[in-house]
Amino acid sequence: MRFQCTKCSYVAKRDKLPEMCPYCGEEKTMVVAKDAQDILDELIDN
Ligand SMILES: [Zn+2]
Repeated sequence: MRFQCTKCSYVAKRDKLPEMCPYCGEEKTMVVAKDAQDILDELIDN
């Protein structure tokens, strides 16, 4: 999965949500980032 920092926009690939941003070090700023494949998968599922 891809996660993006809401503070610095850094994108990290991880198996689970990181507790802190590996780039800026801010805690609880990482959210799931959707890529093109994720969006396509959702369209197919629905
Ligand atoms: Zn960050």
